[in-house]
Order: sequence, then structure tokens, then C-alpha cells
Amino acid sequence: MATPSRTPRTVFNPVVVMIRTDPVTKQIEVFPEQFWVGRAEKQQVMWVCKQNHTHGSDCFRAHFDEGSPFTQSEFTEDLQLSGERDFNAQLNKL
Ligand SMILES: [Zn+2]
Repeated sequence: MATPSRTPRTVFNPVVVMIRTDPVTKQIEVFPEQFWVGRAEKQQVMWVCKQNHTHGSDCFRAHFDEGSPFTQSEFTEDLQLSGERDFNAQLNKL
């Protein structure tokens, strides 16, 4: 019987990021505050809104100022997936 000496690191896909409102300060909190997405693993982020309200299309505003790692730079919807970055995609082609 072989016992692995080290547990392999689990890569969660998608990475779940929760957005909630602090009940005291009413400030938006993001958990975890920092997260990593692996480009090689084609990881995505799923935004989960934990605010006590009726979820809609404008639940929160997650904005990447310094260039988004995803195809969109802003996410606002509960349970929205960031989507994979597709380097071959042609955006806004009319
Ligand atoms: Zn919501």
C-alpha cells in the first residue's frame, strides 16, 4: 500500500469569489480578497453574490483596472462566469 507523502494541490475550476455587504459598514466585501486564476488551467471565476437583496443584472461591480485576465473587464451579475480568455477571439467585429 502506497501512501502519498504529499497531497496533490487541487485546482478548483471555476474559482468561486463571493461578494457580500458588511452588515455594519455597508461596504462591499470580496472573499477571498485575492485570488489567482491559472491561464494554463484555463481557470474561470464564478462570481457569487451573497448580498441580501433580489439578485439582478447589476448586483455588484467587479472591475479590472489594469487589464482584465478575461474577455470582459467588468462583471456585475450573480453566478456569472468570467469566461475563458480566447486569444483568437475577435471582439466587436462589425
Ligand atoms: Zn445580488
